[in-house]
Amino acid sequence: MAYNAGPPQGGAPYQQYPSQQNPPYPSQPAPQYPSQPAPQYPSQAAPPYPSQAAPPYPSQAAPQYPSQAAPQHPSQATPPYLDPTASSAPPQIDGYRDIGFDGGFVRPPADPMPSAPPADQPRIAFTQDPLTRDEVKDALAAFVAQHCCYGSAPIKDMQIRNVAPTFTFKYTLESFVEKRETKWKFEPFSGNGLPAGGGPAPQPWEIPLTPGALFKDEKKVLQVPNTQTLRPCHDCQAHGDVRCKHCAGRGQDRCGQCGGSGQRLGDVCSRCGGIGTNKCTWCVGNGMVTCTTCKGKRNLKYYVEMTVTWKVHADRYVVETPAGLPDSEVAAVSGETVCQAKAHLVWPLTGFPDSRIVTASEHLVRKHHTGWPMGRILQQRHDVQQIAIHSVSYNYGGNEGTFFVCGHERNVHFPDYPSQCCGCCAVM
Ligand SMILES: [Zn+2]
Ligand SMILES: [Zn+2]
Ligand SMILES: [Zn+2]
Repeated sequence: MAYNAGPPQGGAPYQQYPSQQNPPYPSQPAPQYPSQPAPQYPSQAAPPYPSQAAPPYPSQAAPQYPSQAAPQHPSQATPPYLDPTASSAPPQIDGYRDIGFDGGFVRPPADPMPSAPPADQPRIAFTQDPLTRDEVKDALAAFVAQHCCYGSAPIKDMQIRNVAPTFTFKYTLESFVEKRETKWKFEPFSGNGLPAGGGPAPQPWEIPLTPGALFKDEKKVLQVPNTQTLRPCHDCQAHGDVRCKHCAGRGQDRCGQCGGSGQRLGDVCSRCGGIGTNKCTWCVGNGMVTCTTCKGKRNLKYYVEMTVTWKVHADRYVVETPAGLPDSEVAAVSGETVCQAKAHLVWPLTGFPDSRIVTASEHLVRKHHTGWPMGRILQQRHDVQQIAIHSVSYNYGGNEGTFFVCGHERNVHFPDYPSQCCGCCAVM
């Protein structure tokens, strides 16, 4: 596997590594899984629509529906059943035998750790122009505008005593991970439309699929080819209807008004007319109701549904921040990219001048490599950004304090802002 994470040789400061063309996805051809020989599907050897001569349900001649005339199932004669078993267990197809209806993730073939040596060192110029007092006040005004309750008076009256620029590094590692989950499903099926048998079902990771874009979350749901199997409905034995539970198939219910006696207060019951029973409202007197499993279609199509998800997983590490400024504030902003790389599997940034970044990169790359045993990393990228931090000391009404302005966004971290409530939320 080609390793491309390192910077080019002898470049200028601020290596952006532009020459590393992102490996044009999908330059990785559909993964080869040499260890998986052409799947054998011995149990599926029988051709899809074998012997329609023999009606699959000979024993259904006399259904037991006691008080009812034998239900008519006119078209029961020779339906094109692939799998004439009225069992609710999923069909037995290699690779999909044990997944059941709850489903589960499918482990992809393992990727080896990248074995290429680390590339040479990035060199970094630590230069930045400090913010002016006006720029600090602009940032403060934007900060106040984001908080509906904050008063803006302190911005005018505040005396900025000093603006001290500093910086830190933020390392970000992102892995774009694909997962495939399969489960058996069935749905009512009538008539035509079952795909013609096309051979053995492909294993989950043999199905070629590509995401719409790299590093963009996405989800796809599809039916695994050649897993479609037609079966008679196991709940109604392919009748399309089942005995009504409410009247036990009798079509009549005991009259609720007379309790079945036919009499009420010495008179003939007005509701049942003295019979003691009423027509069952659930089955309208038929004794049978439409099967809810097959919705009356009598057959079920079983198939394996595969859900593919692509997701970006990101980890960040901030080298250090001044006292009073949480790492999370720095992690949330952006800065100057001083080092970056992208590859199928990146190599840790072992050449970075700050050993804390090296350690973090090694740790996180290792963590990601084994982070998704049921997923497959399609692409990784990582970068180091130099984040500008300005510590601003101020005097407001005789009180001294410090706040911070961070990153390209000039986000303000100012937990002690002097005018935090205009009174509107005092009732909270
Ligand atoms: Zn009655
Ligand atoms: Zn009924
Ligand atoms: Zn049914």
